[in-house]
Amino acid sequence: MTVSSATIPSATKARILVIGATGFMGQFVTKASLAFGHPTCLLVRPPHKMHSKAALLKSFQDKGATLIHGVINDKDQMEKILKDNEIEIVISLVGGGNVLDQITLIDAMKSVKTIKRFLPSEFGHDVDRAEPVEPGLTMYKEKRVVRRMVEESGIPFTNICCNSIASWPYYDNCHPSKLPPPIDQFQIYGDGNIKAYFVDGNDIGRLTMKAVDDVRTLNKNVHFRPSMNCYSVNELASLWEKKIGRTIPRVTISEDDLLAAAAANLIPESIVASFTHDIFIKGCQVNFSTDGSNDVEIGTLYPDEKFRCLEDCFEDFVPMIRDKILGGPNDELAKTNNKSLLEAVPITAMG
Ligand code: NDP
Repeated sequence: MTVSSATIPSATKARILVIGATGFMGQFVTKASLAFGHPTCLLVRPPHKMHSKAALLKSFQDKGATLIHGVINDKDQMEKILKDNEIEIVISLVGGGNVLDQITLIDAMKSVKTIKRFLPSEFGHDVDRAEPVEPGLTMYKEKRVVRRMVEESGIPFTNICCNSIASWPYYDNCHPSKLPPPIDQFQIYGDGNIKAYFVDGNDIGRLTMKAVDDVRTLNKNVHFRPSMNCYSVNELASLWEKKIGRTIPRVTISEDDLLAAAAANLIPESIVASFTHDIFIKGCQVNFSTDGSNDVEIGTLYPDEKFRCLEDCFEDFVPMIRDKILGGPNDELAKTNNKSLLEAVPITAMG
C-alpha cells in the first residue's frame, strides 16, 4: 500500500526500492539515492511510531521519497509492490537477524521478472571469503544462502563489500560509528598491527549509488578498499590521540579474550566479537586479493571519486567528548595532559 508519494518520476534514473531505510546502513543509502535523483521508494514496516524513525522517514519524504508499508517476507505483497511501483532496482539493508527474510523477496523478484539489479543486504565483508567463528559465522552462512539463491534465480545482482564503517571498532557494539573513540583507555586487539579498511557512511551510500546501475558491477562483488583509510588499531589509537592532544593508556584484548567474548553467545555482542576477531586477528579484510573475475574495486571503477579521510571522520567525534577532555575536577588524565589539550582543542574541537 502506497501511503504517500512525493516523487517526481524521472525519465532517466532507475526506480529504486530501498528496504531498511530506517536502519543504520539504510539511512546512508537512502540519502544517496535521493541525492542522485532516483525515484526512490522506501519499504517501511508498519507501524513506525518510534519518534526518531518517524522523523527520519518524514525527512526522506520531504526530499521526495515514497513510503510503502510492507514486509519483504510476504511474497504476494512484494510482487504487488514491485509491479505497482515499477521498481527496477532493489537495495536491501535488512539487519543481520533478518537476512533470511530476503528469500521470499527473491521469489517475488523472480516472479515479476522486471528487476534489473538487486543489491542484497551485504554491506560488510566478502562472506564467501571470510570465515569468522560463531556466532558471526551463522550470519555469513545466511548471507551465502542468499547469494546462491540470487545467482540461481538469474536476477542481476551486485554485492557491496564495503568493509568497516569509519569509527573506533568497539568489539561489543554493532553500530560503533554512533560512539566516539575511547578517552580513558584503548583496547588493542592482539598486537594491534593487523590492518582494516574504514569507510565513511556517506561514502558507502554515494559509491553504492554510483555502482547500482553500472554495467561493470553487474554480477560482481564490489570491494571498498581506500588505501588512505587502511589503518591498524595501533594507528587508529595514535590518530585519535593526535586529534584530541591526549595520551591514552592501552590494554591488550588478546585473541583468547575475543574468542571468549564470541563464545559467550550474547546476541548481538558476541557476533561483533567474532567479526572483530576475524578482522583484527585473522586479517579478513586484507588477506586476499580482489583480482578475481567476480571482483571489482570501487576505487578502480571511479578513480576521480574521493573518499573522506579517517582523520576528518574522527573530527566528527570531537564535539561528543569535548566536555570530558576539557576535564572535570576528577579527570586525572586531563590534568596530566592539560598542556597538550590546551594546544590541540582550539584547533580540532572549538574551530
Ligand atoms: P538495522 O538493524 O539497523 O536496520 C534494519 C532495517 O531493515 C530496518 O529499517 C528494519 O525495519 C528493516 N527490516 C528488517 N526486517 C525487515 C523485513 N522483513 N521487511 C522490511 N524491512 C525489514 O540493520 P543494519 O544497518 O545494522 O544492517 C544492514 C546491513 O549492513 C546488514 O547486512 C549488516 O550486516 C550490515 N552492516 C555493516 C556494517 C559495517 O560496518 N560494514 C555495520 C552495520 C551493519 P524497522 O525499522 O521496522 O526495524
